Amino acid sequence: MADTTKTLICPACGKEMEKIYIERAQCFIDVCTNGCGGIFFDNREFKKFDEDHESIDEIKKTLEGKEFNKVDASYKRICPVCGMKMMKNSTSIKGEIIVDDCYGCGGKFLDFGELEKIRAEYKTEEERSQDVLNYLKASMGEEYDAMHAHNKTKQNKTKKSGLFNNIIDKFL
Ligand SMILES: [Zn+2]
Ligand SMILES: [Zn+2]
Repeated sequence: MADTTKTLICPACGKEMEKIYIERAQCFIDVCTNGCGGIFFDNREFKKFDEDHESIDEIKKTLEGKEFNKVDASYKRICPVCGMKMMKNSTSIKGEIIVDDCYGCGGKFLDFGELEKIRAEYKTEEERSQDVLNYLKASMGEEYDAMHAHNKTKQNKTKKSGLFNNIIDKFL
């Protein structure tokens, strides 16, 4: 668990981030209210915000009516919690939205506007999962069924089921 009292420095623009308490999710998130409008989620917190039915009213209210500095999203960012280089990842098989993930502490940074885009991608977690499975089926054909069965029985991993698991880990 990250120290929830520590003020974070925005990994995109270097300004101090503001802690917003989200009652529903019982956690703090860090918002770059005086800089770029980016949001940092601690490990696993993002899961509480990525679906359409999960309220983000507090976040919207915090960002409402403000002007934010534009940042270069292609720039490599450093995790404000643990100092590791963050990795750029797409949020789904569609690959349209790129966010920064920290593999050190599990944190996730979203640029201004990305949260709502991610929420609009899929209605539910099931839809997101189904899209991954459809993608795997389409790209692997018959191998998919064999591997899926293979994956379920948890036998020794082959090279390809490793790829399968990577995709599953990344998107599900
Ligand atoms: Zn910022
Ligand atoms: Zn980190």
